[in-house]
This record gives sequence, structure tokens and C-alpha cells, in this order.
Amino acid sequence: MSRFTRLAGNVIEAVLTPHAVDRYLELVDPMVTWADIRGRVTAVSRRTDRTVTFTVTPTRQFEGFRAGQFIQVSVVIDGVRQTRCFSPAGSQHAAGDLEFTVTADAEGHVSKHLRENLRVGDVLGLTPATGTFTLPGEPGARPANIRLISGGSGITPVLSILRTLVDEDHRGTVELLHFCRDADDNPYRAELDLLARRAGVSVNYVYTRAGGRHLGAEHLDDLGDVGFACGPAPLLETAKQLYSERGVELRVEEFAPPAAAAPSGEATGTLRFTEAGTEVDNDGRTILDQAESSGLFPESGCRMGICFSCTAVRKSGCTSNILTGETDSEPDQHIQLCISAPVGDVDVAL
Ligand SMILES: Cc1cc2nc3c(=O)[nH]c(=O)nc-3n(C[C@H](O)[C@H](O)[C@H](O)COP(=O)(O)OP(=O)(O)OC[C@H]3O[C@@H](n4cnc5c(N)ncnc54)[C@H](O)[C@@H]3O)c2cc1C
Repeated sequence: MSRFTRLAGNVIEAVLTPHAVDRYLELVDPMVTWADIRGRVTAVSRRTDRTVTFTVTPTRQFEGFRAGQFIQVSVVIDGVRQTRCFSPAGSQHAAGDLEFTVTADAEGHVSKHLRENLRVGDVLGLTPATGTFTLPGEPGARPANIRLISGGSGITPVLSILRTLVDEDHRGTVELLHFCRDADDNPYRAELDLLARRAGVSVNYVYTRAGGRHLGAEHLDDLGDVGFACGPAPLLETAKQLYSERGVELRVEEFAPPAAAAPSGEATGTLRFTEAGTEVDNDGRTILDQAESSGLFPESGCRMGICFSCTAVRKSGCTSNILTGETDSEPDQHIQLCISAPVGDVDVAL
């Protein structure tokens, strides 16, 4: 084989398997990538007891985002790459670094790690932005009156929308209603107070640990032309009800996975992890939960069927989608482990 053929072969192989090339490149410099998107952390601040706000410079492959979208961010913890969804909080028109704010879940693996350990210079994995929690229309042709409702960590995508509208010099009204524990529990309080001075923008807070009531009809006199809500499930349920009663469009973003299905007690069969060569008695929970309980830690992300980080091949058997109730038993199919529960005997390639 000539040198040219060998070189051409290497180039073709690299083009066909760009992610494999990145495994080698990262040994030299994790920010030099062929296909993967990465981001180097450029600033970190811990503005509240529970949050970490940080900026990252993405590699050249990152193509930007629309306000309200999310990105899968991955970080290696104890040798295992963990992926979670986070929504950039900045304006979609801002050039340069991406800004994230992560609220640490007291029991959460990744959010707690980032809150405690993230440092300037760390390199994170990123994916292209995705999601439909976005402004209708194009800049200059947005709905006139926009209402934003957020609770706790749900501030990030709505702040992105607010900052984007301000950058677009939006001519209508934008009202943000934010629910948080108390005044010290809001990492963006200072900036929001400044934004609230702009014509057409208003910001109101409800401090739930200072006697503030959870979202109800009394908070929303005017629903605007379109509403956006992001926060805990009960807040979203109330918002959906209020908006649907008055026939106004509401877009919602949910951060938390659906409540984990409790073991049914009726589950039967054996769940086999074929690559590990282990098996467990199926207890009815998702395959991801059962794998983790048995000491396997497959890559996972949103735990709610959004991000596809935890796909694996179901070699045989039947699984049920816990969100839709649909069952499927075609062999050798990719399934999302976080939303698939075994129905009887199942072999999965883990
Ligand atoms: C579209 C989207 C955008 C998001 N944007 C943001 C954002 O901008 N900022 C932000 O802070 N968060 C955001 N999130 C939430 C974020 O992705 C994480 O879900 C959150 O940070 C918690 O992750 P964690 O690893 O810390 O917690 P995890 O370790 O995933 O745990 C989360 C909770 O589930 C429980 N749990 C974990 N494993 C099990 C199990 N096997 N059985 C039962 N319970 C279990 C834990 O006790 C904990 O309470 C977003 C989520 C989505 C889907």
C-alpha cells in the first residue's frame, strides 16, 4: 500500500469516525476537537447558597442557540462522564461566552458537583442547543405582550428570553413573575432590578418562604399575547390551567423528570445486562434505575427521555415506555434506558 493510500485511508477513517479522533485529540488538548463541542470555563461565581453561575467559551463547532433552548452539558465525575441539560441564561444575540446558572439539588449528583467543584479552566462537554421553549416570530416581529413565569432554577431560560427581547429593543410589554424562597435566593436579583427600569419591562417577585403564595389567578391579571413558564411541576400545572381557561397560548419547560415509577410489585422476569454478564430480578423500575442499583453506571442525562444520552440496544424482550405506556418487543432496537421499564425478561446490551 502506498503512503498516499494509507494517508487517504486515515483521512477517510477520521471523517467516518470523527468522535473517535476526538478521543485522541483530547489527550493533547481537550479544547482541540474535530467534531465534539466543548467549552472552557472562563468565570465562576457563587451568588447564592445553592447556585453556581459560570461562563464557558465554546469550541468553534458550536452554532449558537435560541433564547429558551437547552444544551447538554457533560462533566467527568469520579471517572464517569455525566450529562445533564442546562439552559443558557444569556441573550441569544450576545456574542462570546455562554452563561449558565446551576441550582444544586440537595441530593443531586451533577448540580452539587458543579456547585462545589467547578473551577475556571475546567473543560465541559457541550451539545448543539435544542428545544422548543422559544420565542415565536423573528426579531422585530415578536408577539407584543409577553408574560414570563419562573420558579427557582427555572429562571435561566426565561431570563434568556427577557435579555434577548431587551437586546431586540422589543416595543411591547414584558412582565416577569419569579417565585423563589426569599430575596437572597435569586442569583439574578441585581440585574433584574436594573432590567425592570427599562420601558415596557416589569419584574415581580414572590418569596415563598416569606409568606408569598404559590402561583394562583391573583398573580396574573393580564396573560399577555403569549406566556412562558418554567419551574416546579405544580407551578407549571397551575399556569397551564390558568392559560387554558382564558384561551391564551402558554409555552412550558419542565426541568425535572417525571416522578420515578415505584416498583409495581407485579413486575416479573429477569433483566440481563449482557455486556456486564449480570442480571437482576426485574422490580418494575426503569432499566436505568435498575442498572444503577446493580452497580452499573451507563451514561445518562436528563432522565426524562429528552436527551438520548442513555440509549442502549435492547437485545430481546419487551419494554414499556413509562411516559406513553407503549410497549415494544422488536429485537435489537435502541431504547432510552431512563424511560423504558422491562415487561418480563429483557436482555439489554450494557
Ligand atoms: C430542558 C432542561 C433544562 C434545564 N436547565 C437547567 C438550568 O438551566 N439550571 C439548572 O439548575 N437545572 C436545569 N435543568 C435540570 C438539570 O438538568 C438537572 O436535572 C438538575 O441539575 C439535577 O441534576 P443532578 O445530577 O444534580 O441530580 P440527579 O442526580 O439527576 O438527581 C435529581 C433528583 O432525582 C433524585 N434521583 C436521582 N436518582 C434517582 C433514582 N435512581 N431514584 C429516585 N430518585 C433519584 C435525586 O435524589 C435528586 O433529587 C434542566 C433540565 C432540563 C430537562
